[in-house]
Amino acid sequence: GLQGQVAVITGSTSGIGQALATALAEQGVNVVLNGFGDPAKIEADRRALQERTNAAVRYHGADMSKPQEINDLIDYAVSEFGRLDILVNNAGIQHVAPVEEFPPEKWDALIAIILSSTFHASRAAIPIMKAQGRGRIVNIASAHGLVASPFKAPYVAAKHGVVGFTRALGVELARTGITANAICPGYVKTPLIEAQIVDQAKTRGIPEDRVMEDVILAAQPTKKFVEYEHLAGMLLYLVSDLGASATGSAMVVDGGWTAT
Ligand code: NAD
Repeated sequence: GLQGQVAVITGSTSGIGQALATALAEQGVNVVLNGFGDPAKIEADRRALQERTNAAVRYHGADMSKPQEINDLIDYAVSEFGRLDILVNNAGIQHVAPVEEFPPEKWDALIAIILSSTFHASRAAIPIMKAQGRGRIVNIASAHGLVASPFKAPYVAAKHGVVGFTRALGVELARTGITANAICPGYVKTPLIEAQIVDQAKTRGIPEDRVMEDVILAAQPTKKFVEYEHLAGMLLYLVSDLGASATGSAMVVDGGWTAT
């Protein structure tokens, strides 16, 4: 079982990362949380998760755009728990604008936080997992790792990069006992998406309720948001022993979006 294993989940103070960290802690996995936010809320959430589960829950505030802080995050997990079994690269941001109006510094931030952080964290984790003879790297990509939408070119590029990196990592690590997989969610109603509804309304010049119906859920044949539990189900499969043959894959959980 997963009981007693150790996981780092980047970007887990909100949304999908927080839900995935919770799902792991509920299985008895000791977790290191990471991400930005109000320190008092982060500490209250950390404590509540630890009290509600029989997992030890820690927090490290590494900025995932800074390689040295990413190394510190992985070192912290090992110094707290003596091992590292699961790395979930989830931290992400979004900015929506036409390419010719896209601020170059936002391009740099998107590539750093979504794509380069996945490289730096994996690079730091792999020697530890190799020494243990087992490991699980799960990168939260997106349906936008497989298909495109307008006004999100840097995000689409970064997520395609995450899928490509994951494939390469899966192949490279295939004989080590470490698997590397991506999960490609469709739309999930997180704070990131709520902010995007506001942005898209401005960019497209339409009201917010129409963005939800005509832009967001239009993409998904189910006409429903993907639920946190459905992503947690895929994560728990990938990190378990049943997931041992899945590597280098892009697992799609998108309400049928990329099938259309
Ligand atoms: P969110 O905004 O709710 O959470 C993002 C998390 O990343 C937060 O904890 C935030 O503090 C953290 N973060 C942002 N910048 C960081 C940095 N520089 N250093 C450390 N942490 C940082 O967003 P979410 O919707 O839960 O997104 C999580 C992941 O899932 C992202 O990679 C996103 O691209 C991906 N995703 C989301 C959706 C969706 O519909 N919400 C769909 C597909 C993929």
